[in-house]
Amino acid sequence: MIVAIDGPAGSGKSTVARAIAKRCGLTYLDTGAMYRSVTAECLRQGIDPSDDEAATRVAQGIRIVFGTSPDGQTVSANGRDVTAEIRTPEVDRNVSAVSAIPAVREAMVAIQRTYGETGDVVAEGRDIGTVVFPQADVKVFLTADPKARALRRAVQREGGDVAKDANATADAEEVKKILEDLERRDQLDSTRKTAPLKPAEDSHHIDSSSMTVDQVVRAICALDPKLEERLDA
Ligand code: C5P
Repeated sequence: MIVAIDGPAGSGKSTVARAIAKRCGLTYLDTGAMYRSVTAECLRQGIDPSDDEAATRVAQGIRIVFGTSPDGQTVSANGRDVTAEIRTPEVDRNVSAVSAIPAVREAMVAIQRTYGETGDVVAEGRDIGTVVFPQADVKVFLTADPKARALRRAVQREGGDVAKDANATADAEEVKKILEDLERRDQLDSTRKTAPLKPAEDSHHIDSSSMTVDQVVRAICALDPKLEERLDA
């Protein structure tokens, strides 16, 4: 069973994919964290993210390991814990340039497909339904109103969770900055030549702006009887 969830930055993909993984017994694959890890490693080595050859060398040699902690997923790159580092504004600013490099994508997609070979995966990203797993059993394109997406991210950065507190607020200036970054990244991600952000032709569109996490999870599971059977089983 492979579930592919694509969509723009901050549309709730991670929260929803994690919930599906837990409630349906699938392995969760955060492909954004992989591009972020390559970007963080480039920045650490002083490599210009638009230097295709140097960034490709980093991508081809990187060892990314996902783990779990009481706070959620952990990520290590070449033996270093990069869980916090990959979420910094500096990585936000540079990740789209790194992920637009075709050879970087090739290296990441090869790793992502090895997860698919294990059978039960819910993967989230930009090109899962179009490139990584075109044969996925369920394909979803998850969107949300840009302001809702920016608020979610800002609250998350301040340690809160909009999914748990519908009245959560964040600093207006911070929301504005995040909104600008999300829109800039979406523009770069959807206009790049290789594997741009776009819905697979056979994907189901879900707008999560005014839905709870549980509603989105149920809507996705309802798309496939086998997936629905696994929900909370
Ligand atoms: O999902 P997240 O916002 O963490 O992804 C960070 C960046 O990684 C995206 O803005 C995009 O440039 C890149 N990405 C990608 N393909 C994927 C997942 C992420 O190009 N499948």
